[in-house]
Amino acid sequence: MTISNAFKSGRHFLQIPGPTNIPDRVLRAMDYPIIDHRGSKFANLTKSILDRIKMVFKTKEPVVIYPASGTGAWEAAIVNTLSEGDKVLMFETGHFSFLWLEIAKKFKLQVDFVSGDWRTGVDPTIVEQKLKDDKEKKIKAIFVVHNETSTGVTSKISKIRKAIDDANHPSLFFVDTISSLGSIDYRHEEWKVDVTVGGSQKGLLLPPGLSFNALSSKAIEAYDRSTLAKSYWDWKPMLENNKNGFFPYTPATNLLYGLDEALNILLEEGLENVFKRHNKLAEASRRAVRAWGLEILCKNKEEYSSSLTAALVPEGYDADDLRKIILDNYDMSLGTGLTKLKGKIFRIGHLGDFNELMLAGTLAGIEMGLKKSKIPFKPGGIMAALDYLSK
Ligand SMILES: *Cc1c(COP(=O)(O)O)cnc(C)c1O
Repeated sequence: MTISNAFKSGRHFLQIPGPTNIPDRVLRAMDYPIIDHRGSKFANLTKSILDRIKMVFKTKEPVVIYPASGTGAWEAAIVNTLSEGDKVLMFETGHFSFLWLEIAKKFKLQVDFVSGDWRTGVDPTIVEQKLKDDKEKKIKAIFVVHNETSTGVTSKISKIRKAIDDANHPSLFFVDTISSLGSIDYRHEEWKVDVTVGGSQKGLLLPPGLSFNALSSKAIEAYDRSTLAKSYWDWKPMLENNKNGFFPYTPATNLLYGLDEALNILLEEGLENVFKRHNKLAEASRRAVRAWGLEILCKNKEEYSSSLTAALVPEGYDADDLRKIILDNYDMSLGTGLTKLKGKIFRIGHLGDFNELMLAGTLAGIEMGLKKSKIPFKPGGIMAALDYLSK
């Protein structure tokens, strides 16, 4: 470490929308010697994890775990189900939707990319119209990012499912839940999602390094037709090995210890309580942003994200200057504006291992940072949040 990284007293506030703060219990659980990943102790660990991870996705179908970041699980959804030239439907919700689009293009899928304003979610009426217009049922898959982490907008997956059903279309349905799983209500099976993509480092209380594909039987049928080359991401050897508690290649043993403990924690608190806690902390954050006189990026109330809030700074000011002031003075990291939104917004991550007092500290850091900046604002955001939290 260099001098500029000299010790700062107290805890760093990591309030970016992922990677998130990791509970001490999870950190301790990972601090454990490696065991033989071909031995029976490991097999028992895997089986227990694979059973319980299903509860988080709300499914009884298999969930595949990759030693990879979320991007790997994005690619896995594609290569296991589709073929070159397949027509697919994707939606511009923000930065992450673009990244998934880039992967689809590299695999030579024919993408109909519905443009968006980065302030709203996927419109179910457009989904329904696009599918109804597709008389020959050429569209093979629909891709949706559930919680767009670059904007703080959450698309309504149940409504999009209904739109697909109303159009009576056989398309596969893929959903990215990397920043919603374990923080925003999500139901893989009930919403008949065919591949749900998840990641470890946002709501799942883990470091980066694991990602997930939750499957449906329809996705497994699509696998048999798919001709895209697959090796590392191939579901088949994964599912075969998983049956006995093993993996086709060396798993991320210590991250799996962490996942085991993270599942204990999530299920102890209870998923519904986890969602309620996130909803409450999100609402308090929005009240603070409004009281400061800043605008919330997300336009529709019903699409507000419970895992992060993106706030616009007024025209002519740079949100990254504010973020720097806050980091330098109060040792807190906030999320930056990505690509189109660079300098225009800051993002408050309020997901994962997080509570009222941590949010109070976060909002205090922002309010003090605003005071030190030249950005015009009204004081009192923190009080608006505390009033709501203590009601
Ligand atoms: C973080 C994130 C990703 C990217 O995952 P990596 O782990 O960086 O590969 C994808 N989608 C969403 C919605 C995310 O929030």
